[in-house]
Amino acid sequence: MHTELHELLGRKPRLLIVDDQALNIQALHRVFAADCQVFMATSGAQALQLCSQQLPDLVLLDVQMPEMDGFEVCLRLKADPQLRETPVIFVTAHQDAETETRGLDCGAVDFISKPFNPAVVRARARTQLKLKLQSDLLRELAFIDGLTGLHNRRFFDERFNAELQRAQRNKSSLAIALIDVDFFKSYNDHYGHLSGDDCLRSVALALRTVLKRPGDIVCRFGGEEFACVLPETDEAGARAVAHALEQTVRALRVPHVLSDVCDLVTVSVGVAVGSPGPTCTMDSMLAQADIQLYRAKAQGRGQVCAQLLPDLALAA
Ligand code: GH3
Ligand code: MG
Ligand code: MG
Repeated sequence: MHTELHELLGRKPRLLIVDDQALNIQALHRVFAADCQVFMATSGAQALQLCSQQLPDLVLLDVQMPEMDGFEVCLRLKADPQLRETPVIFVTAHQDAETETRGLDCGAVDFISKPFNPAVVRARARTQLKLKLQSDLLRELAFIDGLTGLHNRRFFDERFNAELQRAQRNKSSLAIALIDVDFFKSYNDHYGHLSGDDCLRSVALALRTVLKRPGDIVCRFGGEEFACVLPETDEAGARAVAHALEQTVRALRVPHVLSDVCDLVTVSVGVAVGSPGPTCTMDSMLAQADIQLYRAKAQGRGQVCAQLLPDLALAA
């Protein structure tokens, strides 16, 4: 029944069954074992822990449980930014409107009464899994740049913000790099806008191959500009990555006869390295990276300029 979902996801949907009665869990497990990767919890606390670890696509949640009941579990899921999109279906022996209303008020998407009919449970689960998958895809697409397939400016802003906060907490340094294609206006003028698009796609692909650490990201910042976030990276590390970015684009050997740098497409890179401190903000780092990018342009393009932000410079 879930084969279509399985194909879209590239994996089985993850289902969490929560019930303090082992028999109830077994009954639901039988319904879903073939089609879903099933996780089981016998208490609210265990359910919350499994949710954080496994990020299920759907939770089937019993209402009456000792210690933490299903309503409380649901409310806590909805209060957690990482888990609030996880759909919850209550499965309960209560059939009264009051229980059902309270469940829906807590943020549940559906309600199933025990004893349940396996076909009905499967159908309702399938509907919710489909919706969850669709909204996951839409959320993901909202962060993707259509031309290059890289993450977009919105994603950059989110990750940059999160990484800067993490750097402040951990007192680690953080670098960003702005990458701008040199003389791209004349590239378009000479080769045409469609070739310009192809060029941006090639540059995007090349930039992506340079980043090796899982936390590093490269995004399309806008137009012919790209931006990297490099967590836990000091000045020497950031310069090394920036030089690799510049060299990798040059090594593509995309012809650009109107460039003053050489007869190939090149980029200029501006790097800012920040560290914990009051003056280190997203704005100050972006402004510094921009200044460095303009220095790289002014000094002849096809090169890297980098600067530590005052916080780190003073501490060093
Ligand atoms: P510099 O070396 O100083 O960066 O010069 P430049 O010509 O690259 O800079 P400028 O900002 O003058 O021009 C950027 C050009 O990039 C102009 C714009 O038409 C082009 N561009 C921006 N986005 C796209 C796009 O998605 N596709 C194409 N083909 N061109 C784009
Ligand atoms: Mg530009
Ligand atoms: Mg440019």
